[in-house]
Formats: sequence, C-alpha cells, structure tokens
Amino acid sequence: MTSPIPCGRFAPSPTGLLHPGSLLAAFGSWLLARHHNGLWRLRIEDIDPPRTVAGAAQAQLQALAAFGLDHDGPVMWQSERANAYQAALDVLLASDSAFICHCSRSELAASGGIHHHCVARQPRPDPAVRFRVPAGSVVQFEDGLRGPQSQDVHAEVGDFVLRRADGCWAYQLAVVVDDAAQGVTDVVRGADLLDSTARQILLQQALGLAVPRYCHLPLLLDAPGHKLSKSLAALPVDSARPVPVLRYLWQLLGQAPAALDGINALPALLAAAQRAFDPARLPRADILIGAGLPPPGALSAPMLQNPPSPT
Ligand code: GLU
Repeated sequence: MTSPIPCGRFAPSPTGLLHPGSLLAAFGSWLLARHHNGLWRLRIEDIDPPRTVAGAAQAQLQALAAFGLDHDGPVMWQSERANAYQAALDVLLASDSAFICHCSRSELAASGGIHHHCVARQPRPDPAVRFRVPAGSVVQFEDGLRGPQSQDVHAEVGDFVLRRADGCWAYQLAVVVDDAAQGVTDVVRGADLLDSTARQILLQQALGLAVPRYCHLPLLLDAPGHKLSKSLAALPVDSARPVPVLRYLWQLLGQAPAALDGINALPALLAAAQRAFDPARLPRADILIGAGLPPPGALSAPMLQNPPSPT
C-alpha cells in the first residue's frame, strides 16, 4: 500500500486579523508539510456568522500571502460546504450515531452542561443534532509533540452538538468532513484545540474516515498568566515586514537560528527554512512566552537577535 502524500493545512476562523499565535501555527504546519515535500491546504472556517468579522478572511489570506506561506489548490470556504455537512449528518442519523435533541442549555445545567440523555421538558421548534457518545468511549491517540493522549469523551464531554439549535454547523463536524475532503494527513494547530481531537477522532471513526496525525503547538503568550486577548500576542502581525517576523517565529518553534543567518529575501528565507526545519526541535510546552514580543511596526533587528528561549 502506498502512503498518501503528506498534507497539512491551516484553517483560521475569520474572527479577526492574524495574530502571532495563529501565524506560529500556520508557519509550523507549513514547515512540516513543505519539509516533507507535502501539500498545504487553506480553509476559511466561516460557519459561525455571529462570530465572523467582515473583511477578516480576506485580510488573513493577504497576510498569509505576504508571509509567503503558499498553499495548494483552491481555498475551501466552509460557508459553501453545507451539502457535505448535511450528507455526513444524514449518515450519522441513519446509523443512530446522531440524534435530534430538544434539551436547552438551562435544562443541561444540572449535569454541568454535559448531555448523557435527553432531559427536555418540551419539544423546541429549533432542536439541535447531537453525536451519541456511548459510555466507555475512551479515545487514545498519539500527539506528535505531546505523546500519548487519552480522553473519556463520554464522561468529560458527553453527547456533543453537530448542528446547533440556531441551524449553524458545529466546528467538530465541519472540521472532520473538510480535513477528509482536503486529504489532510497532518493536523498541526494550537494546543487550545487539543481537547477537541478525541471528539474529532470519534466522528472520523463513525464516518469511516482516515484519522490524520495530530500535533498541537504551544500557545503563545507575552507573559505568564496573560489573557491572550489582552496581550501583545493578540495584536495583528506586521505583514509589511515578513522576514523579521518569520525569523522570530522560527526561533519560537525551537529551530536553529543559524540556519537563516544572513538571508534577507523572503523566498530564500522560506526555502532555507523548509530545508533546515527539524520537527524534533519543536517545543513541547503548553505555552510559549514571547517575552518582548514586539508590537506591529516595532520589530527591530536587535530585539530579534535575542528571542526568548522556548520554555
Ligand atoms: N478554525 C479554528 C480556529 O481558528 C481552527 C480549527 C483547526 O485548526 O482545527 O481556531
């Protein structure tokens, strides 16, 4: 059997401009795919209209292009994928792996928001659809950086939503359907999504889809305990100066700084990074402190010569 071509992806939600933390994940994913001569796909996860910010998707695509993170094939837009999600939902409903649920959030409050069986007192005009998670659904997987992982999805998560009461498709279903449709073999993303992976594997198994490899990169903060939304790490990246930003992220990814020494043109820098990238050097921590993380427009060569060492 031949193994598929390695394929990574970046799948931002268009909720704002790209910040250094998301660019770190994008760069890590791009490097892993390109280092193995693999493909790299892009997908805009615009399935949550209340959270979508007008113009954010285009700005994210422009920023990725400015950083030279080129992708293969067309950009996939989740807002155009309703038929694929419905087809997957139909499969799950037909096999009784999914069910229509009239429970409200307040009715589930007594069980800490975890759904194990329906407790709805009356039918709602707008029921949700949930995935049935039987008792004993313990999912084990190997994270490329963090090693063996295990989650009892029944106890810790319960029956989770596939289509929300407001009619929106849930992230868990959409991401699984689309990773399969884009042929993704290697999911590299931030550690904030580690907790979702077991749910995604359950869905892949129920839909008969291949399970990709998973690798969760540390979250980037600018000081211990800082909320990302209030920190410099949440400010947009400076697309006008891609080389110093990538050099900084390269070092945050634990890579040897010398590999990029003396290279100042973006294409040459990316080509050298692709060659020199060493997955074994990726940081295994939960968070990275980008101490001295420079605000947009303030990146200066001296600051970049002394980046923080990964924790
Ligand atoms: N759209 C998600 C986000 O921006 C990422 C999804 C994923 O990488 O699986 O947080």
